[in-house]
Amino acid sequence: MVNIFIIIFALLCGSFLNVAIYRLPRKESVLWPGSHCPACGQSLKAWDLIPIISYIWLGGRCRYCKERIRPRYPLVEILTAITFLLVFLKWGISVETGTGWIFTAMLTITAFTDLEEGIIPDLITYPGIIIGLLLCPYMIGIKSSVLGAIIFSGVFVGIAILSHGGMGGGDIKLAGVIGTFTGYGGSVLTLIIASLAGGIWAAILIWQGKADHKTAIKFGPFLSVAAWLVWMYEIEILDVYLRIFS
Ligand SMILES: [Zn+2]
Repeated sequence: MVNIFIIIFALLCGSFLNVAIYRLPRKESVLWPGSHCPACGQSLKAWDLIPIISYIWLGGRCRYCKERIRPRYPLVEILTAITFLLVFLKWGISVETGTGWIFTAMLTITAFTDLEEGIIPDLITYPGIIIGLLLCPYMIGIKSSVLGAIIFSGVFVGIAILSHGGMGGGDIKLAGVIGTFTGYGGSVLTLIIASLAGGIWAAILIWQGKADHKTAIKFGPFLSVAAWLVWMYEIEILDVYLRIFS
């Protein structure tokens, strides 16, 4: 019963994250005006906005102009439902769950704005660092959190300098957010996982002839997914690592 309530809450949060993913890179307010179709501008009614159900009911098209709705809308809603529930099942009713939901929401937004627009919004990263520093004493301790932010964003400043701008300012600030939430140990693990996944992805693209060694790979989505996995399963990941290499 509680789980169903959490899923409904998460679907509604996912719906709001979709609004943020569309509007933040366009510098639009996420609160005003109400939801409207990006194609025809028609303001949407409550029954157009029921997570997942409206998308299926309308056949993936706007009710008014019949333009296709991005599959990202139901995808983000489903992802939010799954990730919020996993966080809740792990931590129960606690500060950890609240922290996890905030972290999950921020990572979801940054992953998709980077994927779609190549932008990691300052409106997420700056407040993210402050929220992380306020919540971290309950989780990993202030020292690990501050060091994580400084070291992890420092690594990305280094990469940006060495690659002559191959790594953007958004990635540096996102690394700062991740550092405050996962601490310096978690940051190292996040960097390893994100680099491995990004490297494999780049190799696949090059192998398929869709990229060469000069193509810039968007790193934000890899960083976001890796950070979420580390925040949730750091001990389990380290356990698997030690089993493989010992
Ligand atoms: Zn429309």
